[in-house]
Amino acid sequence: MAEKKYVYSFGAGKSEGDGSMKELLGGKGANLAEMASLGLPVPPGFTITTECCVDYFRNGSELPSGVEKQVKNALAKVEKAMGMKFGDAKNPLLVSCRSGARSSMPGMMETVLNVGLSTKTIPGLIAKTGNERFVYDAYRRLIMMYSDVVMEKAEGIEPAEGKAIRRQLDGMMEELKEKRGYASDTDLTVDDLKLLCDQFKIQIRKTLKKEFPDDAMAQLWGGVGAVLKSWNGKKAVSYRRIEGIPDEWGTAVNVQSMVFGNMGDTSATGVAFTRDPATGDNKFYGEWLVNAQGEDVVAGTRTPNPLNNDTRNEQNKALKSMEELYPELYKQLFDIRCKLEAHYHDMLDIEFTIQEGKLFMLQCRVGKRTGTAALNMAMDMLGEKMIDEKTAVMRVSPAQLDELLHPILDPKAEKKFEVIAKGLPAGPGGAVGRIVFNSEEAVAAAKKGESVIMVREETNPEDVEGMRAATGILTARGGMTSHAALVCRGWGKCCIVGAGALEISEAAHTMKVGGKVYKAGDVISINGTRGYVYAGAVAMMDSSENPKLQHFMKLADKFRKLGVRANADNPADAETARRFGAEGIGLFRTEHMFYGKNSEKPLFALRKMILSTTVEERVKAVKELFTFVKKDIKNTLTAMKGLPVTFRLLDPPLHEFVPSAKEARQELARALGIRLADIAKRAEGLHETNPMMGHRGVRLGITYPEVSEMQMRAILEAAAELERDGVKCKPEIMIPVTCDVAEIKFQKGLLAKVAAEVAKKFKLEKLDYLVGTMIEIPRAALLADEMAAEADFFSFGTNDLTQMTFGFSRDDIGGFLGDYLDKKLLAADPFQTIDQKGVGKLIDIAVKGGRSVKPKLKIGICGEQGGEAKSVEFCHREGLNYVSCSPFRVPIARLAAAQAAIANEK
Ligand code: PEP
Ligand code: MG
Repeated sequence: MAEKKYVYSFGAGKSEGDGSMKELLGGKGANLAEMASLGLPVPPGFTITTECCVDYFRNGSELPSGVEKQVKNALAKVEKAMGMKFGDAKNPLLVSCRSGARSSMPGMMETVLNVGLSTKTIPGLIAKTGNERFVYDAYRRLIMMYSDVVMEKAEGIEPAEGKAIRRQLDGMMEELKEKRGYASDTDLTVDDLKLLCDQFKIQIRKTLKKEFPDDAMAQLWGGVGAVLKSWNGKKAVSYRRIEGIPDEWGTAVNVQSMVFGNMGDTSATGVAFTRDPATGDNKFYGEWLVNAQGEDVVAGTRTPNPLNNDTRNEQNKALKSMEELYPELYKQLFDIRCKLEAHYHDMLDIEFTIQEGKLFMLQCRVGKRTGTAALNMAMDMLGEKMIDEKTAVMRVSPAQLDELLHPILDPKAEKKFEVIAKGLPAGPGGAVGRIVFNSEEAVAAAKKGESVIMVREETNPEDVEGMRAATGILTARGGMTSHAALVCRGWGKCCIVGAGALEISEAAHTMKVGGKVYKAGDVISINGTRGYVYAGAVAMMDSSENPKLQHFMKLADKFRKLGVRANADNPADAETARRFGAEGIGLFRTEHMFYGKNSEKPLFALRKMILSTTVEERVKAVKELFTFVKKDIKNTLTAMKGLPVTFRLLDPPLHEFVPSAKEARQELARALGIRLADIAKRAEGLHETNPMMGHRGVRLGITYPEVSEMQMRAILEAAAELERDGVKCKPEIMIPVTCDVAEIKFQKGLLAKVAAEVAKKFKLEKLDYLVGTMIEIPRAALLADEMAAEADFFSFGTNDLTQMTFGFSRDDIGGFLGDYLDKKLLAADPFQTIDQKGVGKLIDIAVKGGRSVKPKLKIGICGEQGGEAKSVEFCHREGLNYVSCSPFRVPIARLAAAQAAIANEK
C-alpha cells in the first residue's frame, strides 16, 4: 500500500496544498499554502496534516510511520529555500511549530517558537546577526515556552497553584529585573539573559526532573508532539464543546521558518483585519508593535500602535502609526490587503512580521466578526460586486443574526448615567449584570440564571467557560486583538477591553475606579458598541430597525423555500411575529389564555368547567368560557391580517389548572354551590401518575366533547364575524396528541356539526377552514398514511415527539442531560435541535406516509426546534412547507431556511 502523504510543503512561490484543503491542512496551513502560491512573502515551511493527528491518537500517541521521513524531506526543502540549515553550527535555521485546526480556536492550542536554538547553534546565529542580545532573548523565550508547552502541559503534569514552570520562570525573570532596577524586559542585558537561561535550565531540571533538550531535532519532535497533544488539552476540549467542533477533526501542525520582529527598531510584528471587524466599515484595521514577537501583540501586555489613522482610539491615540513610521512598508501591506480581499472575496484577519525592514506574511484567515460587521460587510461587498446575492445571504450566520437582534442599552436611559470608565468596544450590544471576578463564579451564577459581567485584568484561554456563561466581559488591559476581544467577537458577546482606568484586584474581589470601590455582586452596565462602563442598571431595549438588515432579510426571503410561521397566542405576540416577517401562526396554544396577565376571569370559568361533575354543570361553565375564548381568538385573527392561524384545541392535563390555595378553592366551591371538601375530592380524582402521557390532548375532547365543541364554535364564529365585517382571516383547527385516525374522525364529527350550526347562524353556505393534526406520538408518525386521509395538514410537535421517542421527560431532562453530553453519549440536547437520526426517522416516515395519500399535504413543525438553524435545514431537506417558532426567532428561521435552500441546491 502506498504510504499516506502526511506532510505538505509551502513557500518560495509554490505550495503542495491550497486554500481549499482546510480539512487536511487546517485553516492556517491551507491559507499559508494559498498565500505562498499567490506569490506573497510567506516564510517557507510545511504542514503536518490533521490526518496525522487523528492517526497519532489512534496509534496510542505515536507518530504514524512515514511521518519522520516526510518531515525530513520537507525540512530539506525549507533549508534550500532559506539557504540555511536546521541545527547547523554556522548558518542555523530556526522554526516555529504551531497548531492549526480546520476552524480557528484562538489561543486554545499550543505554539513553540525559536525551535532549533542550542549551545551548538547559538554562536552561529550570533555571528550571523551580530546581535548577541537578540539571540539570547530568543533562547530564553524558547526555554520558557518549551518547558511550559512540551515538558509540562504535553506530559499531562498538573502543577499545584502557582507552581507551573512558566510561572516559576516568569517569577525568576521579574526578580532579576527588580534586583537590577529595570522597568521592562528590553532593559535586560546579554549577561542578564545568559544568566537567566542558565538558571532556567537548572530550575527545569529541579521541577520537571528532565533536561531541557540541547539538540535541534529533539526540540522539533518535542514541539510537534506537544502541538498534537494540545488538541486534547483541557482548554481545547472545553472550547470544542462550546463551539460544537467535533473531537475527530484533529489539528494540523505548521512548521515554518522563523522570522523575527524583535531584531531592533526596523523590525516589528502586527495583526490586522482587511476591514473593521467590529463595525464592518471598509477600513484597513490593525495594530502593530516595533521590536516585538507576535505573542506580545495578542498578550495585551503592551498597548499596540495603530496601523493607520483609521485605527486610532482612546488607548493608542498618542502612538505612531505604521503609515507614519514606515510608509513604504505600509503601502506594501496595504497592497497585500487588497490582493487578498480580491482573491478570497471576504474580510481577512492577517498576521505579519517585519524583519529588518522586510515584510513577511505569517497568517491569513477569514476574520471573525461581530453580527453587525457580518451584515454590513455582506451588503457592502454585494454593492461592490465582490460577491453575489447568494454568497451575501450565506455570510451572516443565524447566530450572528441573533446577536444583531439582541438588546442594547436604551440610549435615552444611558444619557442619565455617568460613564465611570471607557475602554475599547470589542463586542457590541449592551449588558447589565452583577460583577464577578473569575470564571468559576461566572459559571455558578449563570447556572442560577443570574446575569453577570465578568471583570478581569485581562482574560486568557482558561477563562472561556466563564466568558461563555457571563452576559458581558470587561477587562482593564488588552487591545482589539486581545484574547477577550477575539473570543467575544466570535461569539457576538458584549465586551469591553482595555478600560485602563479600572484597578482590578482579582484576589480582593474589588474593582476601583474614580475613587470608588465596586465589589463582587455590585451591578454595572456596559455598552460594548461604544466602550462605556456605568455603575448600576441601565434600562435595555431592542436593537433599532436597521435598513441594511431589512434589505438583507428580503434577500434571504428570495431564496428560501420553507415558509416561516410563529408560535403565538395573543395579539401582541402576533404583531411581533408579523413585524419579524412571520407568514402566519403555526401554533396558537389555546390554554395560554389561562396563564398570566388578565387570565383571572377565564381561568375561573375554566376551573368551574374542570371541577364540574355533571354534564349540566359543565355545559353552564363551558358557555361562560366561550365568550372569553372567542374574544381571544378573534383578536389574534384580526392582528394577523388574513394570514393563516393554527388554533390548537386544549392540550394540557386538566389538573394543572386546579387551584391549591385554600381561598381559591373556597371561591370555587361557592361558585359551584358545593362544599370545600368536594373540591378536594374532585381535584384528587384528576390526579395522574404520568400526566404527560395521561388525560390530555385529544383525549380531553373524547371524554368532554362539549369542551372541544365550545372551542370549535369560538373559532368558527370569530372567523364568520370577521368575514361578515370584511376582515380576511384563515383559521386552521389542529388536534393535539393523536395516535389513531379514529380520534381525528371523532373530532371531525363534532366539527361538522358545529360548522353546520355556525353556517346556519351566519347564513353562510360554507365556512372556510382547515382541520389537521399534530404528529407528536410515534404511533401517529408510523400510521401517517391513515392519519393523512382525514387531515388537511400535519404539524410535528417535536417537543412531545422527542419525549415519546426517547422516553426522556421533557420537563426533567435537565437532571441527566449534562451527563449525557459530557460523556458524549448525546451530541446535543434533542429538545433544542432535532435528533435527526431517531426522531428525524419518524418525521421522514410520516412525511412519506402522509404524502403517499395526499401528495400536496401541507406539513409543518411547531416544536421548539423549529427556530433552530440545524433543525430548519433538516425540515428543508424533508420538504416541509413551513417551520413555526417563537416570534423572536422568526428572522433566524428565515435566514436558516434561505441558507438551507442555497446550500442544498443541486
Ligand atoms: C410539541 O409537543 O412539540 C408542541 C408544540 O406542543 P406542546 O409543546 O404544547 O406540547
Ligand atoms: Mg405537544
